[in-house]
Amino acid sequence: MNKIIMVDSSNRKINYLRLSITDRCNLRCMYCMPEEGIEFLPHENILSYEEMLRMVNLSVYRGIQKVRITGGEPLVRKGFTGFLKRLSEIEGLEEITLTTNGVLLKQYAEEIKKCGIHRINISLDSLKPEKFKKITGRDYFKQVWEGIQEAERLGFSPVKINVVAIRGVNDDEIEDFGRLTLEKPYHIRFIEHMPIGGSNNWNSEKFLPILEIYERLQNVGPLSPVQRRNNLDGPAQRYKIENAKGEIGLIGALSNHFCAVCNRLRLTADGHLRSCLFSENEIDVMPLLRNGAGDESILALIEKAITEKPERHNLSNYGHRSCTRHMSSIGG
Ligand code: SAM
Ligand code: SF4
Repeated sequence: MNKIIMVDSSNRKINYLRLSITDRCNLRCMYCMPEEGIEFLPHENILSYEEMLRMVNLSVYRGIQKVRITGGEPLVRKGFTGFLKRLSEIEGLEEITLTTNGVLLKQYAEEIKKCGIHRINISLDSLKPEKFKKITGRDYFKQVWEGIQEAERLGFSPVKINVVAIRGVNDDEIEDFGRLTLEKPYHIRFIEHMPIGGSNNWNSEKFLPILEIYERLQNVGPLSPVQRRNNLDGPAQRYKIENAKGEIGLIGALSNHFCAVCNRLRLTADGHLRSCLFSENEIDVMPLLRNGAGDESILALIEKAITEKPERHNLSNYGHRSCTRHMSSIGG
């Protein structure tokens, strides 16, 4: 089979696949999933690990070099580490990363590391246990914090911490997170709260732009820019506070949209290819995967998803609710 590096119609090289392996989660973050949960997909409607491995293998033939495993919460899916091991054996895949809420990380970190995963993102929106509980609906701060420390101890590098910044919720902790990078080698990535999913508590008053976060971090110390590692690097604007061991990343999905450099394709847990987080356009690959279709037909769908990637997201054109799928089923 021929390997092709694919560019989309806007001439962007698409080399990064975000793979959501489950829509289930053990937290209920206020910006992602309502307390009562969402209507979870029945097991038979979720791609099997076998089907996901086939999709990743084929995607590599269409230029994918990096895969991020996400969810829902990936660590809650049974057999997750076995899947990771098989994924790591796919030839031509240069990098595998993982985004987790960290609740089960302490228990699985060593196995994850053994699968050759070195880079990990852990979501943590507050350094205060009570507030963590308020944001996530669960009293698991201690578990997540221990998971982060375990990842550091095992030598994951970098350990990235994702913080969704919301005015009136955790904006009082911006400097605290900044100070954490003085002591620890963590990369703290502030993410603008995105209006995604049916009811995720988004409103413009709570919206905290990255520019304001940048300014607040100056209270901790002067920030200097950090160069991008390579073209597999994400869209974060990277900075280092003077004398810090760690880094700061600012991800302004709304105020500073990075569509022009977006290299991403997504595969949802129920087998839909999405080329833009904010677009409703999806291609369902499940029927082909399940009716014995040959590789060429599936490759054609991957190519279609890539070539039809929208030039930019439409949030500003359509107001702030253009994506009705929940973040947990797309994978962020
Ligand atoms: N459960 C894992 C976790 O939370 O890390 C992985 C899936 S989660 C959907 C992936 C990322 O999306 C997390 O860092 C989460 O904070 C972020 N996220 C979810 N909903 C969001 C929203 N409405 N705006 C901004 N980021 C969001
Ligand atoms: Fe679960 Fe992650 Fe969504 Fe929080 S952001 S509810 S941890 S999937």
